[in-house]
Amino acid sequence: MYTLPYFILMRTYALILALSFLTLGTACSQKKDVLATAKAQAATKPGPAAKAYPTAQPMTNKAAEFAVRKTEDEWRKQLAPEQFTILREKGTERPFANKYADNHETGVYYCAACDNKLFDSATKFESGTGWPSFFAPATATSVKVQQDNSYGMSRDEIVCARCGGHLGHVFDDGPKPTGDRYCMNSAAMTFKK
Ligand SMILES: [Zn+2]
Repeated sequence: MYTLPYFILMRTYALILALSFLTLGTACSQKKDVLATAKAQAATKPGPAAKAYPTAQPMTNKAAEFAVRKTEDEWRKQLAPEQFTILREKGTERPFANKYADNHETGVYYCAACDNKLFDSATKFESGTGWPSFFAPATATSVKVQQDNSYGMSRDEIVCARCGGHLGHVFDDGPKPTGDRYCMNSAAMTFKK
């Protein structure tokens, strides 16, 4: 007599699991829903304390923009396949199943391609997206930002300010004090305590 309810329960569980994977798979590539974003913005308008933190500098797209310049062949030799896909081909790793989403150690995150200092663990927060998320870059020369209109979305792409490698995107629904959410790929970074 318990067969049917158990079956229904398992089926519901499987459906919820499938739905959450679908939702989470696009969490980094899309903005949160409009209501959540509006709430987040109301709660996290950048206050005076935000000025204490560096921001991403806009990209200039000049030939000498990045101090570290290599050919794609050189990058391919230096980087692991997943690193190359993300850093050089603007790929996105899977949520949750990545190195640093759940890393709570104190330390610094560096660019996996050129060792540029990117983010300090003091600005890392739980975004629930499954990707390591920060509310500010480590320094004014850590990252650069440019508009990204790929995949039918208007997003702000974040690249390493030293080598131009793709790191992730920045959204304006982050926590205090800046209100920014830098949604990064673990494989594009290395972490040192
Ligand atoms: Zn770099």
